[in-house]
Amino acid sequence: IEQQTKDDKAEVAEYFNTVGFDRWNKIYSESTEVNKVQLDIREGHQQTVDRVLQWLDQDRAGKPLTESVCDAGCGVGSLSLPLLERGASVYATDISAAMVEEAEARAKSLLVNGGHRRGRFETKDLESLGGSYDTVMCIDVMIHYPTEKMEEMVMKLASLADRRLIISFAPDTWYYSLLKKVGEFFPGPSKTTRAYLHEEGRVKAALAKAGFTVRRDHMTATNFYFSRLFEAVRQ
Ligand code: SAM
Repeated sequence: IEQQTKDDKAEVAEYFNTVGFDRWNKIYSESTEVNKVQLDIREGHQQTVDRVLQWLDQDRAGKPLTESVCDAGCGVGSLSLPLLERGASVYATDISAAMVEEAEARAKSLLVNGGHRRGRFETKDLESLGGSYDTVMCIDVMIHYPTEKMEEMVMKLASLADRRLIISFAPDTWYYSLLKKVGEFFPGPSKTTRAYLHEEGRVKAALAKAGFTVRRDHMTATNFYFSRLFEAVRQ
């Protein structure tokens, strides 16, 4: 498991610094240079982002967001930017320097009133993160790792979270396993890294072990994008 995890991590880092960066930077933008599958993934991912923001907006009830957030595996900042915009202090980190540099560049060019100054951007894998934050987010990252590793990630993220964890994963159901098997999950010539599905029960058990319980959940499913979202709070 350890060796496999190391390989996965090295592969993922390499991918998101090279071809994966180009692919996902386009998907996570308004670029028109995307195919139908990528467009579908963009729309699905946006639904996940919107759901997270909807939860936070419900809670803050019109007030600025004052909490500290750690966005682990921030990508190009699809969540970090709207969080900064709402007033949060955000520690945005990613294993890929290319991704996190893009996130910082977007924050500087898109955020008004110095919103980017509440952000701290750093190239760092989530395994070596420190500190404590009101909320820790890790969206669409666990799909890159096997279930044993997902469990370790949940423990690590939980140790950084004072109050709340918001995580997402591709759920392991017979339907998605079948899709993955027949290669429809990520169609086309190997455009991505391996995708791992996780059983919802295993994720909940890992959260419980870390002292967290699911308060809100959501499932986003488009044709090519599947993501189960949990908001978990300290028990
Ligand atoms: N969370 C972002 C979002 O939802 O827009 C990005 C999702 S993207 C599919 C997955 C990201 O996880 C990539 O930017 C990748 O570099 C990052 N990543 C993968 N493994 C990681 C790790 N061990 N620590 C930190 N980031 C990681």
